[in-house]
Formats: sequence, structure tokens, C-alpha cells
Amino acid sequence: MQSQKQFKRRFSFEFFPPKTDQGKEKLQVVRDQLSEVNPDFFSVTFGAGGSTRDRTVDTVLSLHRQGISTAPHLSCVGSTRESIAELLDLYKEHEIERIVALRGDMPSGMGAAGELRYANELVSFIREHSGDAFNIEVAAYPEFHPQARSAEEDLKNFARKVEAGANSAITQYFFNVDSYFYFIDRLEKMGITIPVVPGIMPIVNFSSLTRFSEMCGAEIPRWIRKQLEAYGDDSVSIRKFGEELLTEMCGKLLDAGAPGLHFYTLNQTEPSISIWKNLGLGQRDKIAF
Ligand code: FAD
Repeated sequence: MQSQKQFKRRFSFEFFPPKTDQGKEKLQVVRDQLSEVNPDFFSVTFGAGGSTRDRTVDTVLSLHRQGISTAPHLSCVGSTRESIAELLDLYKEHEIERIVALRGDMPSGMGAAGELRYANELVSFIREHSGDAFNIEVAAYPEFHPQARSAEEDLKNFARKVEAGANSAITQYFFNVDSYFYFIDRLEKMGITIPVVPGIMPIVNFSSLTRFSEMCGAEIPRWIRKQLEAYGDDSVSIRKFGEELLTEMCGKLLDAGAPGLHFYTLNQTEPSISIWKNLGLGQRDKIAF
């Protein structure tokens, strides 16, 4: 973990672009509540194949206009170089400074793979097209990506993204802190020392968490699963248990030197804000790296 301690901590909240006017209004409220604690940035997801393209752009620009540094996610699967270049130019014109560069997941049977196959190719393309205009974040997988041929290959593929010009990484969520510590150790041994910020998934609904975790390869340890199962439909207890669990987990990560936290908010203020407050993060001064 030594390499991570040199970086200033940064804290961020992730949103998905709302589909309806009601969703937009709700996000305005969430945004106002979360901006009070002064995170370093917000980020907005991007549907593979450009399925949320316009909504992502609208959400990013509207958050950014309101004075909150906002990072669009950009996935390359199913897209052409030309359409990616258009987005990069638009973001540059609006003085967006950070991009989360991803491959994305194309729903099976939907469209062609696109011109850039992997995230490392997207990072190279962004550097080629936009130079150093953006700080580039990439995804990291402490429990390894579900499609990786092996753990070794996945680490090598992560290294490819760094070699292509990624500045920092955000992890897939995990509930086992040792997987993160081990991942960082492996990166250190490979000489990779960019900030790798843990992604934190709040626990609000057991069945959707289980479904999503199976898809993205995040393990829910047996003791957590059993406890959540035991709560059944008691959503108050599920949330309370989740909040305590994640507060403790985030505390361990920060104490060990993790360079900040990235909350997958699910467009909700709670429980991210309670975890934040439990950690005593308070209202932070803005920092940058
Ligand atoms: P890659 O780094 O390209 O890796 C994908 C797989 O291919 C891995 O198994 C890797 O080992 C392998 N691989 C990589 N490079 C090579 C290579 N050169 N040759 C052979 N194999 C290779 N998805 C969205 O659609 N929209 C989002 O907004 C979004 N946001 C996310 C944010 C975060 C922080 C994270 C962690 C994930 C996000 N995702 C998002 C999900 C992500 O798109 C998926 O996990 C996707 O399956 C992989 O994307 P990646 O960028 O990690 O891909």
C-alpha cells in the first residue's frame, strides 16, 4: 500500500443520467445535498454503444455549469473513432478536465463491437486526439474482471491502460478489503504507482445487489449475504447494516492509505452521505491532482 500513501486523497460521487423529468428533478436535489460536502468531482455514466449519449452529455454539462467539476464516463464499445472524437471536442470546448475511459459492455446481440476494442485503445485514442487536455481515469478490478483470461492477464491489461496514458483508476466495488490491498501490492511489484481509488457501492437492496454483483464479478462474502438474506424485506435493517459495514470498510481503506473514495450513489443522497459523515470527512477543502 506504500505507493498509494503519496497521493492526496480525492472523493467523488457517481451518477447515472436520468431518463425522465422526474429523475432530473430528483438528481438536482441529490446534487445540491452532495455538493455541500465539497467533493472533488462528480462523474456521470455512459451507456455502452452510446445509448445514453445525449443524456450523459446533458447531465455532465448541467452539473458542470453549476460549478461542480464533473467527469463524463466514455465507453468505446460499439462506437466509432469519429463519434468519440466529437464528444472529446465537445467536452474540451466546455472545459471538462477529467474523463473516465472505459470499454463498456455491449448487450449481447446488439450492434457491432466498434472500432476500439479495449479501454487501453480508447486511452491511446484520447491522448492521440486530445493530447493532455484531460485527466484520464480508468477502471480497476481488485477481484479481477469477469472476462479476464487469468488474474495475470488482467493485471497486464491494466498496465496497458496506464502505459497508454491513464492518470488514475477507480475500482469496481468490492466488500473484501484484502482484495484491494493485494491488487495494489501486485501493481507495486509491476512498478505501477498511479492512484487507485476504491469504488464504494452502498447496500440498499439485496436482490439488485446480488444480480448486479453476479454480472460484474464482485463477490458478496457469504457472511454478508447470509445476514442480508436474514433481513428479508426489512429494508431499514438492510440499510443500517450496509451503512455500518461500509463505514467500517471505508475507514480501514483510508487508514491503510487508500487515496480517497468514489461512491456509486445510485442517484441517492443516502447512504453515501451518512457513510461520509460517519467517517468524519466533514466539509472538505478542494484539492486537485
Ligand atoms: P478493459 O480494460 O478493456 O478490460 C475488459 C476485459 O478485456 C478485461 O477482462 C481485460 O482483462 C481484457 N482486456 C483488456 N485489454 C485487453 C487487450 N488489449 N487484449 C486482450 N484482452 C484485454 N460501463 C459502462 O458501460 N458505462 C459506464 O459509465 C461505466 N462506468 C464504470 C465505472 C467504473 C469505475 C467501473 C469499474 C466500471 C464501469 N463500467 C461502465 C463497467 C465497464 O465498462 C465494464 O466492467 C467492462 O466490462 C470493462 O470495461 P474496462 O474499461 O475495464 O475494459
